[in-house]
Amino acid sequence: MAPHKLDIALGDAIVSVGYPQERPRGNGDQVMKNTTTGSCHCGAVKIEVPFDGAFKKLRRCDCSYCSRRWAVVASVKVDDLTVLEGEDKLSLYQWGTGTARHFFCSVCGIYTHHQRRSDPTEFGINIACFEGINVRDFMGVGYEDGVNHPRDQK
Ligand SMILES: [Zn+2]
Repeated sequence: MAPHKLDIALGDAIVSVGYPQERPRGNGDQVMKNTTTGSCHCGAVKIEVPFDGAFKKLRRCDCSYCSRRWAVVASVKVDDLTVLEGEDKLSLYQWGTGTARHFFCSVCGIYTHHQRRSDPTEFGINIACFEGINVRDFMGVGYEDGVNHPRDQK
């Protein structure tokens, strides 16, 4: 009977959709690193950073630029950040001393990361760009004093 065949077909479809898929786990001679992937809003830019379950050095900054942006930022070493996609879509903004290099997607405008002025060996990363982040969990993150920047003190 037709309805019975339909049930079977539907059941098979559900089973096959829900079946766990084998995923390739690297080529064997690479050390697997725990990483997480972030993206801008439109998805043109994708970045990857090491991640062991928590972001490091969470902060906001109250300088004239960051206070407008109002992102919660974490730190990674410059060598540890990989731009997976969209390097050509990244725009660079520099101001003041020009030391900090702020990158954002030229398509959707979202800030993804910046090379820090306080420590140019680090990128600040916009944690809101990363998978699984709930920004409400980071309401209490405090501010660095970006108005009286350590680099401006003589
Ligand atoms: Zn974008």
